[in-house]
Amino acid sequence: MTALALLGGSPLRTRPFRAWPQFDQAELAALAEALDSRRWGGIHSGSQGEAFETELADYLQVPHAVVVANGTAGLMIALKALGVRPGDEVIVPAMTYLATATAVSLLGGVPVFVDTDPATHTITGSSLKAAISERTKVVVAVHLGGHPADMDSLGDVAGTYGIPIVEDCAQSLGATWNGTQTGSMGTIGVFSFASTKNISAGEGGAVVTHDDALAARIASLRDHGRPRGVAHHPELGWNLRLSEFQSAVLRVQLKRLEPHLAAKAKGAAFLASALSSLPGLTPVPATLDPRVTAHGRFSFAFTFDGEAFNDEANSISPGAFRAALRAEGIPVSTRDLIACPDEPIYADITNRDYSSSRTVSAEQARAACSTLVLLGQAAGSGLLLEGPKELADVVRAVEKIHENRHQLRQEQRRPARPLRLIRSLVKEYPQ
Ligand SMILES: *Cc1c(COP(=O)(O)O)cnc(C)c1O
Repeated sequence: MTALALLGGSPLRTRPFRAWPQFDQAELAALAEALDSRRWGGIHSGSQGEAFETELADYLQVPHAVVVANGTAGLMIALKALGVRPGDEVIVPAMTYLATATAVSLLGGVPVFVDTDPATHTITGSSLKAAISERTKVVVAVHLGGHPADMDSLGDVAGTYGIPIVEDCAQSLGATWNGTQTGSMGTIGVFSFASTKNISAGEGGAVVTHDDALAARIASLRDHGRPRGVAHHPELGWNLRLSEFQSAVLRVQLKRLEPHLAAKAKGAAFLASALSSLPGLTPVPATLDPRVTAHGRFSFAFTFDGEAFNDEANSISPGAFRAALRAEGIPVSTRDLIACPDEPIYADITNRDYSSSRTVSAEQARAACSTLVLLGQAAGSGLLLEGPKELADVVRAVEKIHENRHQLRQEQRRPARPLRLIRSLVKEYPQ
């Protein structure tokens, strides 16, 4: 019997996997060029920001892209441009990165949480339909993990009720649905370029649309409420511009996107087939919908079923499994995710920032949050870029934990372990 690394044994892997984000001399040269220009901010003609807007719009096949400070700012601008006012309802998934919902709350709107499909962790037309009220102003579809939401059924329902769709593409740049880029199917698409996203400048975002008037409004809201080329301020706006350094880096990063997507698709396919042969592990999605013509692969997700992984009722928790996997040298986030309606700002009425919200359904989202294991950029790693030789260590680490699962269970019961370890083995493990 080998000792599990979590319990003091030696880790299966000590060499790091590839890092994320990736860069080389090209990003360094772009940064130097932006520095040398002495035009470090503002979106002026001939700027890096303007060039990146054009290149991103071309890539996505949309007429307008507006760069902004970050993805959350992009969502706020998108919702504001669509007329969301205090008290208006905006339908959002119960499982997403919280910023999808807080962007609504920061405008005084009311996020309405609907459940996600357990096969893909995205919302569908039928979940949308159940949440619509007279106060519904917008629906935000999130392409979570890089998996496109079902834009066919969402488009049908939203079209019938005349509700605009904002696509939250923070995790899905490069993903396509029926051959069409995410971000180009709804009324507005919003991207993030934070450190873990598919292309990055540390921070950053973009808002894209086919609509000329909306594009002008978005650019104005980003720039103090001042339309392009105008000196006065006809509306209330923010300064949510992107710096030239960020745009310069993003132009280079965009060139890496397609090769990265191709490498990550291979890595994910290898992991999906290797891990699904192990007991209790199910890749998400188990099989790819043929309408997903490209997956953005922000993460590789699988669900952990403790009962199936063990063989008795007293199974190890997904949290313990994640901690054990991480200790073996596999970068995986160790925390349980939290469904948005359960976050203190929406669930705890004693919270000073308590915000009103409405939950239509969140059962599947809650179940997914506790059982999901995330690999890849979601865990801050470039692991999916690796080939089968390196990725085989992920499989070996899971096999090692499976073979030695009884150690973990014994440790779980023993009361005299250090507090930190107990915490990692019991349910929630705040870091
Ligand atoms: C990252 C992310 C955001 C927020 O983007 P920031 O650039 O971090 O503000 C919004 N929605 C989702 C789904 C995200 O993953």
